[in-house]
This record gives sequence, structure tokens and C-alpha cells, in this order.
Amino acid sequence: MRKTIIAGNWKMNHTGKDAKETITGLVGRVVQDVKAEVVVAPVFPYLPMAVELTKGTPIHVAAQNMHWEESGAFTGEVSPAMLVDIGVTHVIIGHSERRTYFNETDETVNKKTKAALAHNLTPIVCCGETLEQREEGIMQPWIEGQIEKALEGIGADDLAKVVIAYEPIWAIGTGKTATAAQAQEVCSIIRKKIAALYSADVADSVSVLYGGSVKGGNVAELTGSPDIDGGLVGGASLKVDDFMAIIDNAV
Ligand code: PEP
Repeated sequence: MRKTIIAGNWKMNHTGKDAKETITGLVGRVVQDVKAEVVVAPVFPYLPMAVELTKGTPIHVAAQNMHWEESGAFTGEVSPAMLVDIGVTHVIIGHSERRTYFNETDETVNKKTKAALAHNLTPIVCCGETLEQREEGIMQPWIEGQIEKALEGIGADDLAKVVIAYEPIWAIGTGKTATAAQAQEVCSIIRKKIAALYSADVADSVSVLYGGSVKGGNVAELTGSPDIDGGLVGGASLKVDDFMAIIDNAV
């Protein structure tokens, strides 16, 4: 049985005071027997604080990015071992903003995914098409290609630890949510691709999230779809009430 996962990607938002207030607010409200696995991804400087504040709670802390190398001359980068060292458990990999603004490619996404797994970090691997690709009718081969390249060289045993997030670029931060039917269609394409690359059993074990303007009002329909196992949430993860509405309404 796959878990429901609700992950909040804060992007480059919240300085220390707001980060502390938001995490403290969540800690007060995310109860031990919460149905969903709850993950928050603050910016790098506040990760240690987030880990400290969430100790002993069901909230997990994710980084929004990392490098694949262990250490060395990579100015501005952070390694998987460093994240593990401070108690981070998850890492978002290949978000479309990283691909668009920081030249991340399928190849770097693959290297980062392998490095995360090697360090026992849960990779939340993002994929998604642009509106143009959808309108041109190439969404399916594009998504399948992203999945195949992201998972290249990763063994079946590691797949159950991988989380995939389908995030149509046209729905991120735009207020436009994919309909539950559209999101389900693509999450099912992703699962079928994993089944073709590995096996139906392996595909069944992988959590596939939807991301793109998820809110308290649409999360139940989205996560009620057979192949959608949760949400990767941007804007609505910044306020405790908004994020709690998503956690509480996820099914
Ligand atoms: C995201 O950036 O991962 C995202 C889904 O953003 P939003 O929820 O704001 O659309």
C-alpha cells in the first residue's frame, strides 16, 4: 500500500522568523497519527532549524536541491552527505524551475537521483511538460523520456525509495490546476513507463505525486485518483492554514 505524501516546496521564500513560525505552527497541528507523510522543504540556511524543530514529530525535512558529488571544488553547492549530516531525509530533484533557470538536465537529474539513493535520502524527482508540448501532442513521449533518463542505471531494489512528482509546468504557480483526470492520465503514464522499465510490482511500489496549484479545495479529488499518491505543493505550503487544509483533505 503506497503512502500519501504531502510535500511543501517553499522555494526561495521565508526568512528565519517566518520559517520558524511556519514550522512551529505545523508542529503544533500535524498530529502523530496524521494519514499523510508530511515533508517541508525550506531553503538551505534554515534546514538545521527545521530539523531541530521537527524532531520527534511526523514532519520530514527536505532540501530543494543538492549536488551529486561528495565534496570538492563546486562553489555554492551542497553535497548529499552534508544534508544527511544535518538530519535532512528528502531532497527535491529536477524541479522545473531548476531545469529552466539553472540549466539542470535529465543527465544531472539522473546523477542527483543516484547520489540521493546512495546516501539514503528520498529523492522527489520532478518531471512535467510545457503547455506548448501538451498542445503539440508530445506530452506522453516527453514525460516517458524524462522518466527513463531520470531512472537510468537505478536498480529495481531502489525504486520503492523513489518518489516521482508530476508537475505540468503550465500549472506551477499559475493558479491553473490540471484537472484530476489530466493529472491521473499522466501519473498513470508514469507508472506504466516504470512497469515497462522494471515490472508491474516495482511500478506499484513507487509514489507518484501531482504538483501544480494544489490547494485544500482540490487535493481530495486529485489524491483520490488511483495513480496519484499525494501532492508537491508550492505557494500553498507557505501558510500553516493553507498547508494544513491540504494535509487534512488529502486522501
Ligand atoms: C511547485 O513549484 O512545486 C508547485 C507545485 O508550485 P505551486 O503549488 O505554487 O503551483
